[in-house]
Amino acid sequence: MPNRKKKTTIQLGKQPPQYRFFLNPYQDMRWTKCPQCDSKMHQRKLPLVIHVDPMNLFSLNKTCRYCPHCDLLIAHQDDVEHFLASFFTEQKPEVVGNDYLVLGTLERPAWKRGTQQPMSLQEMLEALHDFKEVVTFKLTGGWVRDETKVSAKKGRRTV
Ligand SMILES: [Zn+2]
Repeated sequence: MPNRKKKTTIQLGKQPPQYRFFLNPYQDMRWTKCPQCDSKMHQRKLPLVIHVDPMNLFSLNKTCRYCPHCDLLIAHQDDVEHFLASFFTEQKPEVVGNDYLVLGTLERPAWKRGTQQPMSLQEMLEALHDFKEVVTFKLTGGWVRDETKVSAKKGRRTV
């Protein structure tokens, strides 16, 4: 049997995976309604964990859109990139322009501790909930799941 669906992503976090995640690339779409079921979306503030090449993990407490029916979490790519650009320009200018990937969410108690003192990579991974799935949607008359994408997609920053 051909092993076509070879898993390329491994679970990094020690916590159970949570949420299906969509990093929204459409600046004019703010998703007040769910692209999948058309229900009104809720807001949920969560510490997102972001990996920036080569080896930087950090968390960003961010208000995302959330649909409880679909367990779908949406963050806006331009917001995330705006934050990355300003954060790293100050803290670590040599990584500005590198690839990044939103990995999952951080347990809230761990995130709180992290605001008091810097967390090690190991502490971050201990408290990380990977995403269950990373999804994308595209417009073709209506919004449909883009099944051509595989697993987590790397975004490229343009700063
Ligand atoms: Zn929905």
